[in-house]
Amino acid sequence: MTATVVDGFTGELLRADDPDYEARREVWNLLHDRRPALIARCGSPADVAAALAYGRERGLPIAIRCGGHSLPGHSTVDGGLVIDLRPLNRIEVDPAERIVRVQGGALLGDVDREAQAYGLVVPVGVVSHTGVGGLTLGGGVGRLMRRFGLTIDSLLEAEVVLVDGRVVRASSERLPELFWGLRGGGGNFGVVSEFVFRAQPLTELVVLGCFQPLERARAVLALAERVMSDPATPRELLWTSFLRKPPPGAPFVPRGLGRRPGIMSLIEWSGEPGAGHALLARIRDQLDAPGASIDRVPYLRMQTLTDELLAPGTLRAYVKAGFTDRLTAALADVLGTRAQRIGSDMSVIELLAMGGAISDTPADATAFAHRDARWLINVPAQWRAPAETEREIGWCRETFDAIAPHLSGGAYSNFMEGDEGDAAATAYGALQERLAAIKDDYDPANVLRLNQNIRPAVRP
Ligand code: FAD
Repeated sequence: MTATVVDGFTGELLRADDPDYEARREVWNLLHDRRPALIARCGSPADVAAALAYGRERGLPIAIRCGGHSLPGHSTVDGGLVIDLRPLNRIEVDPAERIVRVQGGALLGDVDREAQAYGLVVPVGVVSHTGVGGLTLGGGVGRLMRRFGLTIDSLLEAEVVLVDGRVVRASSERLPELFWGLRGGGGNFGVVSEFVFRAQPLTELVVLGCFQPLERARAVLALAERVMSDPATPRELLWTSFLRKPPPGAPFVPRGLGRRPGIMSLIEWSGEPGAGHALLARIRDQLDAPGASIDRVPYLRMQTLTDELLAPGTLRAYVKAGFTDRLTAALADVLGTRAQRIGSDMSVIELLAMGGAISDTPADATAFAHRDARWLINVPAQWRAPAETEREIGWCRETFDAIAPHLSGGAYSNFMEGDEGDAAATAYGALQERLAAIKDDYDPANVLRLNQNIRPAVRP
């Protein structure tokens, strides 16, 4: 084996002949089976700077990896350099100030566990092995978003290794334009080595879950629309519907439904438990799901509930998603028809209620372009066997085409592939020009281009 020397780098370097290479090159989505020339496992911002310099000088394509959950596989690259941030996973909680410092390679589960030790939460996503890095920089939707906002709405400061090797701190006071772009613009402007979040007190949720036959979809979605569009509905309530086959091992699937697709409702309350129980009981009556249980569930339990079902290295995935203003009967009918055609028991049409605290932050305060969206419709096709790839990608694309007339435009950059025509325009919309100017300032050569890419503005 020839030793690779990266000036100033003190972390671990892996090439194809290293025993750990195979395990380290794998990303969450098995569809992206790529072989980087070099994996640089960074233990400090200085390592990140050294790796960036090495890749830049050799003109290597550079992929940045945190949790490795990028659906289009942006965190790996054939023949290029992977800057792997996973060793940078220290979390520090300041319970008095309710501040959590998170290094740039940490997973959601690392944050959840450390913050919960003090009864605190940072509002992140819903599967604990997802990376904080990619999720936050895209915006971050999760079960507490209606109560506390997107993940970026809790971000106070970021330490960033710029492509020229400088390490800077960005916040609303320092480098405010960079800070604006980091909150939604993805990994386009630099490598974040530390996120500083505001935390909130919360330790448990009240949860109603039920699975009903597909014939109920129209009525269930009409109820979801009625409840979530009512201005009196508290922001502590989050409603998620899934059209899918019964998930393997799900506790609340009635006998007799077999493996047929149905509609699963997960309705979560993050406020005072007594009030939540009463509200969920009323919703259960209206859902006509008398057997459905309403439980107080520890926050950490909810955050890890689907970890195994969605374990890294077990699934292939392809995703399309968009926003809609209303769950109309016409849309519900289209969704029902598409759900009947689901092949894999892991493929899903997911409808997530937005609103609440998300729209407290002014639309132009961050680079997340979709604060006024009411529902996020996410269509991840997920399957295990390579032989099912064509069928599942076909189902996802056809489903998205069928719902497209009902969508309000735009897309969430973390639920995209990159084959959506002009992906940046779709993801960033009217913010694109401002983002391109920031790209121009911080990465004019587009070194960081394996992402939902913002191309530098062409300046005179
Ligand atoms: P990686 O693949 O490691 O990184 C993706 C990209 O993010 C990189 O290519 C890079 O451009 C950028 N990046 C990552 N870290 C840094 C950093 N420190 N500095 C600079 N750039 C960086 N999204 C939600 O909003 N909510 C959810 O609940 C949610 N659940 C998910 C569950 C699963 C099982 C999966 C597969 C995805 C989920 N997502 C969710 C989507 C998720 O937000 C994106 O896939 C995101 O990119 C994952 O971040 P990561 O760090 O794991 O990804």
